[in-house]
Amino acid sequence: MTQHLDPRAPWVISTHDLGRRPGSMRRVNLALPAPADIGVEMIGVPKDVDVELDIRLEAVMEGVLVTGTAQAPLRGECARCLEPVISRSEVGFQELFFYSAEDAAEGDPLLDGELLDLEPVFRDAVVLTLPLSPVCGEDCAGLCAECGVRLADAEPGHGHEVIDARWAKLQGLVPEHNNDQES
Ligand SMILES: [Zn+2]
Ligand SMILES: [Zn+2]
Repeated sequence: MTQHLDPRAPWVISTHDLGRRPGSMRRVNLALPAPADIGVEMIGVPKDVDVELDIRLEAVMEGVLVTGTAQAPLRGECARCLEPVISRSEVGFQELFFYSAEDAAEGDPLLDGELLDLEPVFRDAVVLTLPLSPVCGEDCAGLCAECGVRLADAEPGHGHEVIDARWAKLQGLVPEHNNDQES
């Protein structure tokens, strides 16, 4: 892979200060704007919000080991009642960026000179933790199946008098045959 990283891209980190001597270590705290399209269907990290990163860069024989945590706000929609869901994601990650493709396996990330790209690492770490069915609260009762009102906003004991057609027939409330005029 000869794909070159853009040193000005926010998620591209320089390892210049780290050097390549194994055992050399740097700790970095930074806030980066969230990349676009981080999320699953009903919840995700809004684009450009601050993602707080606390990372440790460590030079090892084959490359740079990055270990860290990322904290980011989440915005989504309750899978039961469709109200907004606001929460936070805190994820840990660890990735070894290789100096040389010869040491790396297929799909392993590589350094581009002194640069490495944290965006895919963050993306994978966050997406794995996102709930497929986020809820506004564990006790969310969802929507009324009859009228669609959000049950948390409805009167206690909200319900509808439902007369099942089969019972109605047994009670003689509905004639056996409808004698509708043809229209
Ligand atoms: Zn809800
Ligand atoms: Zn209802």
